[in-house]
Amino acid sequence: MTRPPSVDRLARSLESSELPHPLRVEVARAAIAESRVDDVEAMARDRRRRMLAPIINATGVLLHTNLGRAPVGAQIDPTYTNLEFDIETGRRGSRQRAVGDLLASACGAEAAMVVNNCAGAVLLTLAALGSGRGVAVSRGEMVEIGGGFRIPDVMAQSGARLVEVGTTNRCRVADYTRAVEDDDDLALVLKVHRSNYRIVGFTEDADVSELAPLGVPVVADIGSGLLDAACPWLDGPIPPWLADEPAVRQTLTAGADLVLFSGDKLFGGPQGGIIAGRRDLVERCERHPLARALRPGDLVLQALQATTLAYLDRRGHDIPFWRMATLTTDELAQRADAIVAASSAATTASPLRSTPTEAVPGGGTLPTVTIPSHGLRLAGDHAASLRDGDRPVVARVEDGATWLDLRTVDPEDDGVVAEALAAVLDEPASASAHNSDQAEAR
Ligand SMILES: *Cc1c(COP(=O)(O)O)cnc(C)c1O
Repeated sequence: MTRPPSVDRLARSLESSELPHPLRVEVARAAIAESRVDDVEAMARDRRRRMLAPIINATGVLLHTNLGRAPVGAQIDPTYTNLEFDIETGRRGSRQRAVGDLLASACGAEAAMVVNNCAGAVLLTLAALGSGRGVAVSRGEMVEIGGGFRIPDVMAQSGARLVEVGTTNRCRVADYTRAVEDDDDLALVLKVHRSNYRIVGFTEDADVSELAPLGVPVVADIGSGLLDAACPWLDGPIPPWLADEPAVRQTLTAGADLVLFSGDKLFGGPQGGIIAGRRDLVERCERHPLARALRPGDLVLQALQATTLAYLDRRGHDIPFWRMATLTTDELAQRADAIVAASSAATTASPLRSTPTEAVPGGGTLPTVTIPSHGLRLAGDHAASLRDGDRPVVARVEDGATWLDLRTVDPEDDGVVAEALAAVLDEPASASAHNSDQAEAR
């Protein structure tokens, strides 16, 4: 038996791993403790791969919550900004003004502000406008969004009292009217978009336009953040799958006093929660102590400003989400054919095929919608091998095959996808590289 190497020597042997020294030491310690000294390089690679890194989303899920929802990139130089500084007076300003005012213009609202995410927007609005008072919500809109955001729980946290209205499948204006009349301290009506489920059959719902005359503020949590149903930022036609999605501008026009939405769903920006609508109500939200706890940072505001400017300039093609959403299946099919040609040996028996696929919006939006798309089908389960490269490619496995949808892949990454597929095609047919590696190790 040889003595185990020193931690220091083992850590030094990992210099090419691109891990900082303290992490190399951690990995070396773990390798010695687990008697896996021979595996230490693989352990260092695994540690490195746990860090945040770009990946290629070939799942066809446009807003993939596990992959950061809408893809955003921001070139932000290290610099001071006028984050909370009024350039004109030279005095302290509000961090909400710069981007809030742009968002208000983009939404057609009097005012707007930004918090950390839409869950935060709901919590802050309920706390600022409804704490200690009643808030009416339809029994059919008690939603749970992924990650444990539940309307009744958020209501309890905000200090507002939940006033349930109507039934699960039917909730009429008369039900809301009764709630307003019967409750002696109703602060507002909250309409919540059923983002991730649908109620079908014997149903009835009240629109925002019908609730506006009730005499209490109407707050609409629309979640997904489609800015305008007319999509004026697109050159081409409006994607038909957007048809039933509530839009910020139209919800405000219909009479909502505030509209709440996510920055990183159909808005296509960074994670954020936007509160837009009546100035007096937005200001009450801004003054609430929770606003400080939920405020976004400089980097997020800069990225959100860039997205909002693209909308105002009608540059939909500069918003990656809209670029992906509006690609034609012909363009995608051409790219798929080129990838097949680049990655397959010139044999007719290649298990790789160019094929029509179905993409989905994702992000807990439009649960029943599919988007015609195009991509690649590779016989067998190769998901682990595809994730194993320096730029992991995340694919879907279904019906014993690996599916790559090109709608969510940046065309600049097609070459990486082709290389990853070529590597898989070179492998022994039976199993993915990952599994066969393990088999050999045993
Ligand atoms: C997604 C969603 C939320 C939560 O939004 P986050 O930005 O993820 O916090 C809240 N309400 C509705 C209706 C949603 O669809």
